[in-house]
Amino acid sequence: MVPGNDSQLAPLRAAAEAFCRSLAPVLEAEPTLQVQGMPSDGDSREIYRRMGEAGWIGLHWPRELGGQGLSFLETAAVEEVFGYHWLPLSPYLLSCRTVGNALLRFGSREQVETLIPRICRGELTFCQGFSEPEAGSDLAALKTTARPVSGGFLVRGHKIWTSSAHIADWIYLAVRTDPEAPKHRGLSVFVLPMDTPGITVRTFPTMGGGLLAEVFLDEVFVPASARVGPLNEGWKVMLYTLDFERITIEKVGALRWVLDELERWLQEQDPSGPWRWTLWHLQGALEVARQLCYEAAARLAHGKDASVGSAMAKLAVGRLTRRIASAALDLLGIPGLAEAGPHALLQGRVAALYRAAIGSTISGGTAEIQRLVIARRGLKCPNGR
Ligand SMILES: Cc1cc2nc3c(=O)[nH]c(=O)nc-3n(C[C@H](O)[C@H](O)[C@H](O)COP(=O)(O)OP(=O)(O)OC[C@H]3O[C@@H](n4cnc5c(N)ncnc54)[C@H](O)[C@@H]3O)c2cc1C
Repeated sequence: MVPGNDSQLAPLRAAAEAFCRSLAPVLEAEPTLQVQGMPSDGDSREIYRRMGEAGWIGLHWPRELGGQGLSFLETAAVEEVFGYHWLPLSPYLLSCRTVGNALLRFGSREQVETLIPRICRGELTFCQGFSEPEAGSDLAALKTTARPVSGGFLVRGHKIWTSSAHIADWIYLAVRTDPEAPKHRGLSVFVLPMDTPGITVRTFPTMGGGLLAEVFLDEVFVPASARVGPLNEGWKVMLYTLDFERITIEKVGALRWVLDELERWLQEQDPSGPWRWTLWHLQGALEVARQLCYEAAARLAHGKDASVGSAMAKLAVGRLTRRIASAALDLLGIPGLAEAGPHALLQGRVAALYRAAIGSTISGGTAEIQRLVIARRGLKCPNGR
């Protein structure tokens, strides 16, 4: 059985559905969210705050830290529901799914005890400063450096494509702490407030309808206590963080909504049309991608290495996002291009999804990089160097 199909998850899913429905007035009041092509890219501090207030952040984290003591599989099931209801999830995914889980594994006791409860309450959001202008796929080539000084480090560098940086309270930052070491061995990860002197954020719009940011770090002082995990061993912290990021089950939820609504619309237009075949193919492919997400989530839930599984999930979901966006727009025809107004079909989301879908095979590591992870780590193919 697919872990995500466990019938015991049904009551939790129903509760998550009810919570999402209760947020409808808030979503309607934030018109900028309507043009967002993928819920995972949407920025809303208000939705994040309400998620925390209602206890939906950190479901699988310990109760004494503000979580609900559930399993990561249960969290994944809820995230699928959040995606189905098109919640703007970027602050949640960065702070809880990605950074929070890594903090729980590698953070100091002080970091865990001060930061995790604030994430659970929806008070504290993170952005993730990994990518740089010349270090995306080759992440270990990053050049932002942290130079040791009395009591800590001075950080200098430039991050790019940083989601939610303009609304984040803190940044989860990958830096080079040993410039002499081989590139994977001289990295460390730090957490620091975004209002630390020397940090500047510059946003730019994306095709997907939201904003990404550049983060400039100019002689930013970071105390030694801000390090996450051992000095110069940041690479393993970063890989673990990416394993969580790549379980893109919330995108599966959003794609399911698109297929459900598309079927409803096509049924009204042409009940016996040949569109059924296209839809069945897409529904089948989506179920495969969904299973890959849940299999990877199950591995993480049991404390197992999920690098290959989460790369498979990310690859499948990313490619399928593009395929579904394209096929759905073909089936809707020209009217599907309207994103707003009384004639917009499926709330204009398909056209918006089409714009955002390109990013789905880039963010969190491109499709080519996921294939390399699967080949090298999964199939043990030689490096070729
Ligand atoms: C919507 C969105 C949100 C993002 N959010 C964040 C964020 O919050 N934080 C963050 O740190 N980053 C973020 N990123 C950045 C993302 O992780 C990088 O864009 C991605 O890793 C690719 O890096 P790059 O853009 O430098 O492309 P490059 O690495 O320059 O790649 C260019 C092309 O070359 C291909 N390529 C590169 N190396 C190889 C290889 N060895 N074999 C085969 N092909 C290869 C790539 O697949 C790609 O097609 C985000 C990106 C997007 C689109």
